[in-house]
Amino acid sequence: MSNAYNVLVLPGDGIGPEVMGEVRRLIDWFGENRDFNANVDQDLVGGAALEAHGEAISDACMDKALAADAVLFGAVGGPQWDPNPFHLKPERGLLRLRKDMELFANLRPALCFDALVEASSLKPELVSGLDILIVRELTGGVYFGEPKEIRDLPDGQREGIDTQRYTTEEIRRIARVAFDLAGKRSNRVASSEKSNVMQSGVLWREEVTWVHDNEFAGVELEHVLADNCGMQLVRNPKQYDVIVCDNLFGDMLSDVAAMLTGSLGMLPSASLGAPDAGGKRKALYEPVHGSAPDIAGQGKANPLATVLSFAMALRYSFDLGSEADLLEGAVDRVLASGKRTADIMTKGGELVSTSQMGDAIIAELNAAAR
Ligand code: NAD
Repeated sequence: MSNAYNVLVLPGDGIGPEVMGEVRRLIDWFGENRDFNANVDQDLVGGAALEAHGEAISDACMDKALAADAVLFGAVGGPQWDPNPFHLKPERGLLRLRKDMELFANLRPALCFDALVEASSLKPELVSGLDILIVRELTGGVYFGEPKEIRDLPDGQREGIDTQRYTTEEIRRIARVAFDLAGKRSNRVASSEKSNVMQSGVLWREEVTWVHDNEFAGVELEHVLADNCGMQLVRNPKQYDVIVCDNLFGDMLSDVAAMLTGSLGMLPSASLGAPDAGGKRKALYEPVHGSAPDIAGQGKANPLATVLSFAMALRYSFDLGSEADLLEGAVDRVLASGKRTADIMTKGGELVSTSQMGDAIIAELNAAAR
């Protein structure tokens, strides 16, 4: 048996507990059937933590997150907390996790399952077999740079200011994540910036090239201007493997790439920190969707984004790539069998509930394990 991993599960609010419930069953399945040994702890975050402790994440929970090998996060928020002041919003829990764990690398795969090809707004031949990974810098750039303000001008107008700022090390560390991941995939990185009009873009291009030439010369690198990258993503997305970009361009390009694959209920993500002395990174895995209060508690939620986020944890935090393949393969076969939650319903599909989707995945895993 391998050493036990410490896993912290934070289901959160709305559909979070429902979709995470299916992941808990999968954690148990991998514990019983594969060489995966996990100490699982569960705690409150978001609105649930506000109700219990008066803050969106307690210090004790934060300590557990910092000590965990992986945090599995559901979703937070709901209309009952909308009137709360900013410091008492459920989202503060997630923001504190990202900040205190120093999660600077956001990984957003865009993976198109064959059975859902028709859910894409693009032609089937453009998205069939699509498998790209956007690596977005998450803690720097224009969303955080100072000065950041709206100020009054002498002539009576107002002026809004945001500052795009990146340092050598901020660029090099995200580039290393992208090159490293590309080495485990098709070995190609496209770096996206606006070096034609932005000084931070010039530095970005130079530093990514430096990391490539000095540390990852075996990986194929291309530079693409961010506007062209957006265009290419809808023209011919399969030309890309890993795309690395700053916070702002990554925000937009990852949403464009995500929608190539259809539904919000299918999109996983990972956020990684810097490696420690032993090479381990702090990591948080979460679906891209929110807490979907409109369908919460009704068994309608699609658990696949959260399930696929757990597959990312198997691959990136536990180094269990073949177990991740096994889980993704099971999801693929469940979809091919026609089972659908309402959000991904296609003609002739069989409508299933959240837990029935979980049952179907476990049945496929059992079949594959026989
Ligand atoms: P949302 O992602 O929760 O829902 C958008 C739409 O997609 C809804 O119609 C919802 O029913 C549907 N949907 C989302 N996930 C689904 C799933 N797994 N299965 C089936 N359908 C799904 O976004 P929203 O409605 O803008 O926000 C709702 C709440 O979630 C708000 O309080 C918002 O602040 C919060 N939110 C949280 C996160 C997070 O925790 N990371 C992210 C986004 C929004």
